[in-house]
Amino acid sequence: MNKSADSEITLKGINASPGICIGRAYLVDREGVEVINKYCILEKHIKSEVKRFKTAVQNARTELQAVIENSPQALQKAQILETHVLLLNDKLLYGRTIETIEKERVNAEWALKTVVTQIKAAFEEMTDVYLRERVSDIVHVSDLVMRNLVGAEVKDLGKIDKRVILVARDISPADTSQINLERIQGVVTDLGGKTSHTGIIARALEIPAVVGLEVATRRINNDDLLIVDGTTGTVIIQPSENTLVEYEDRKIHYERRQAVITRESRLETKTSDGHLYRVMGNIELPEEVVAVINYGGDGIGLYRTEFQYLNRPGFPSENELLESYKDVIEVMAPRPVIIRTLDINGDKALATSTTPAEDNPALGLRAIRYCLKHPEVFRTQLRAILRAAAFGDVRILIPMVSTYFEICEAKRLLDDTAKTLKKDRLPHKRGIPLGAMIEVPSAVVIADLIADEVDFFSIGTNDLIQYALAIDRGNRLVSHLYQPLDPAILRMIKRTADVARDKGIKVHMCGEMANSPLYTPLLLGMGLEDLSMNPQAIPAVKRMIRSISLSDARTITQDVFACKTAKQTFEILREAYGDLVENHLIEE
Ligand code: PEP
Ligand code: MG
Repeated sequence: MNKSADSEITLKGINASPGICIGRAYLVDREGVEVINKYCILEKHIKSEVKRFKTAVQNARTELQAVIENSPQALQKAQILETHVLLLNDKLLYGRTIETIEKERVNAEWALKTVVTQIKAAFEEMTDVYLRERVSDIVHVSDLVMRNLVGAEVKDLGKIDKRVILVARDISPADTSQINLERIQGVVTDLGGKTSHTGIIARALEIPAVVGLEVATRRINNDDLLIVDGTTGTVIIQPSENTLVEYEDRKIHYERRQAVITRESRLETKTSDGHLYRVMGNIELPEEVVAVINYGGDGIGLYRTEFQYLNRPGFPSENELLESYKDVIEVMAPRPVIIRTLDINGDKALATSTTPAEDNPALGLRAIRYCLKHPEVFRTQLRAILRAAAFGDVRILIPMVSTYFEICEAKRLLDDTAKTLKKDRLPHKRGIPLGAMIEVPSAVVIADLIADEVDFFSIGTNDLIQYALAIDRGNRLVSHLYQPLDPAILRMIKRTADVARDKGIKVHMCGEMANSPLYTPLLLGMGLEDLSMNPQAIPAVKRMIRSISLSDARTITQDVFACKTAKQTFEILREAYGDLVENHLIEE
C-alpha cells in the first residue's frame, strides 16, 4: 500500500477482470450474521427445531429461485445459483446440520455455524486454489439460511440507483445477480482470487474487477472516488488531480486500443514472414464461448470441465455433460474445441465424499490419476465427449500425465468407450485427436515416449512451473519465485516443442504464460504452434504475432538461451519487443 503526499492511497490486489473504471465507491455490507449464541434444546423440542431449520432452508431456496428468474442471461447460464440451490440440500451442509441439532441438542443457528466452520477448515487445507475458493459457495449459502433463521434483513442491491463501484468483503453470485448491471462500473473485494466467482462473473460481464485486496473495505469509505485498474490489479482511493487525469487518459487509450485490436482480431494471424498461427481461448463455463468469439478466438484451446462436478451431490450424468459440450461445440463450429478431461482430486470434487483428505493433494490422486482410479466417472465423461464430437471439431486432452502407462490406459478406456457407444447405437465420432497436457516434469523427460501415443501436446505452464520449480501456485509467499522465464522452464518448453517437431505432432500452450504478448515471440521462436489463453488476452497476442517475423523471433530465442536468469531474458524481450506492447501488459 502506498500513500502519496496528497493522501491518495494505492492498493494492490489480484487482477480478476481487465479494464479501467473511475467512479464512486458503494460499500456493500455483507459480513453475514456475526453473533450466534448457543443454547440447548429439550428432547421434546428437537423435532420442531429441525423443522425450523428446514423452513429456513425452504425460504432460502424460494429467495434463490426468485433471484435466478430475475438475473441476467449470462449469469443464468453460469448455473452458479442453481449450484447454490443444490447445495442447500447437500448432505454436508443440510444433513450434518440436522444431525448436529439431533445429536448435540443445540439450536439450529449454532448447529449450522459449527458445521460451516468444520467445512471451511477442511477446504482451507486444499492446495488446489480453484477448489479452495469454492468454500465461498458454502459460506454464501449458509449465510442465506442463517439470515432466514435469525430473521435478519437482507440489503437489496437491486436498489442501487446510481453508477457506482461495488466494494465488498466478497460478493456472492446471488448478490451479483440482484444488481442492476448498468449501474455497476467495477468491483473491488477483500477476498477471492482469479478463479473466485466474483472474478468469473466480472469477466463474463466484462466489468473491471480487482479482488483479494484484504483491506479494501477498511480503507475505502462510501462515496470515495476510486480508480480501478482491473488489468494491473490496482485500486487508487481518492486520487490526486494528476493521477485522475493520467488514468482518464489511460482509460480512453485502453478502450480505443481494445476496440481496434478486437476488430483486427478477426483477421488471419500471420507473422510478417508469412507463418500462420491459431490463437484460441480457455474457458471454464460454457457461456464464456461468447467472449472467445467476441475477442476473435480461433477455437477453444482448453475447455476446463471441472466446473460441472463441483458443489453438487453426485456426478453429472452423461446427457447433462453432452448438452453442455454440445452448446460450446455448436457455437464454435467449425472451429476446434479441445475438451480437457476432468482435472480434479475426486475427494474434493464431491463435497459429500467420505474418502479421507490427502495431506498433499497437488501431488495426490488428481486429474488422470483420479480418472483411472474411478473408470466409471471417466467413462461417462468420455462417452459424452465422443457423442458431442458428432457436432463439430472436437479433440480430447488428458491432464497431469506423468507416466507412459497413464496415456496408454486412457487410450484403452477411450477405445472401450467408443465400442460401447457403437453397441448402444448412439451417434458419436471415433478416432478424434488425442492430446497430452505437458505439465509435470516427468512428462517433459519422457515426451518422446508419450508423443508416440498422442496427436498433440499442450503445455500447461501453470502446473509445470509449480512442479518444476517447487512453488505452490496458490501460495502468495513464494509467488515472486513463480517465473515463467526461468531458464529451467524455458528449457522444458523447448524440449517439448523439439520432441513434437521430431515426432511430427502438434504442440500448443494453454498455460497463463501464453497470455502475455511480451512472451509471444519467444514462444513462437521455441517452436510452439497454437496458443490458448484467457479470451481477453487474445487480441493483444494476435497483434503481436502480426507485428513480428518468425525469423527474428528465432534469433532472439537463441540469445535468450544464453541467459542464466529470468531477469536477463525479460530485459532482452523488453528491449526487442517492449515498444509493441502496452505498458500495463508488461509484467516483471
Ligand atoms: C496449466 O496447468 O497450465 C493449465 C492450463 O491447467 P490448470 O491451470 O487448469 O491447471
Ligand atoms: Mg494444470
